[in-house]
Amino acid sequence: MSRGVILMYHRIEEPSSDPWQLCVAPERFAAQMAILRQSFVPISLGDLADAVRAGSVPPKSVAVTFDDGYRDNLTVAAPILGATMIPATVFVVSGAVDGPGFWWDELEQLLLDRGGRRPPLALRLHDSQVTWAPTLPPRKVYDEIWSLLCELPPVTREGCLAELRSQLGDTATRPPVMTAREVARLAALPGMRVGAHSVTHSRFTALDVPAIGEEIARSRDTLVTLTGTALDAFSYPFGDRGRFPEHTRDLLAGAGFRMACTTQPGAVHGHSDLLALPRHHAQDWDADTFRDRLETWLAA
Ligand SMILES: [Zn+2]
Repeated sequence: MSRGVILMYHRIEEPSSDPWQLCVAPERFAAQMAILRQSFVPISLGDLADAVRAGSVPPKSVAVTFDDGYRDNLTVAAPILGATMIPATVFVVSGAVDGPGFWWDELEQLLLDRGGRRPPLALRLHDSQVTWAPTLPPRKVYDEIWSLLCELPPVTREGCLAELRSQLGDTATRPPVMTAREVARLAALPGMRVGAHSVTHSRFTALDVPAIGEEIARSRDTLVTLTGTALDAFSYPFGDRGRFPEHTRDLLAGAGFRMACTTQPGAVHGHSDLLALPRHHAQDWDADTFRDRLETWLAA
């Protein structure tokens, strides 16, 4: 049975720190897209879903997706995709549009990009005080605070970041996300589609059913209004396959989504579950490594 692959990107940029390997440098991304065009079969996510529904995907087919809605998707990635005529879907966090950027980027800058000595840190969470000694490795502190903040409602989370800023005596600039006009411009480009990636990028396991329904329906409504196009693709926030409650797929289907992407690695084939599509995380690899990875994934 032939297989396809869905690639997941986030930012096309060279960052100073990148704890989750979410950045691909622009020239590396251009080299990867050139390989994709030469040696594989670029396909839109929608066409790949149609092929799955028909029971068989084209050999060597590869769909490109981006999560979150960073501005560089429009300013850096889209021109490269346009030049190589590779279609892509950009999953936008609707509540982040026109906003100051994502909390995890600020946390990364506050804790991982700083030199010198870190003061002791403390956060009050769920009525108990959690503290981090100055001697702990920055990555450990970052990972622990990241995990705690993931589970919090957005307002509480922003309060914690303000608290950390004040304890560290530091500020950070978050990488820009797209404005409403930029999302509309992206959606109007040939080959580019916008998909929904929730309103607040909260873990669905931390929400009750009505709140998950809101995240799905409101992100769809906002992005339909912004782009003037129908939306049929969703990407789960922190999208591991096991991390969303089972009724989520009914809510997605009810809201008109016909495909949803996880971050579970794997290939796509004629029997894939369209509401839990696996994706492979494309990283800052050179062209040869990228080609090797794709060949391995397509053969798996
Ligand atoms: Zn995301």
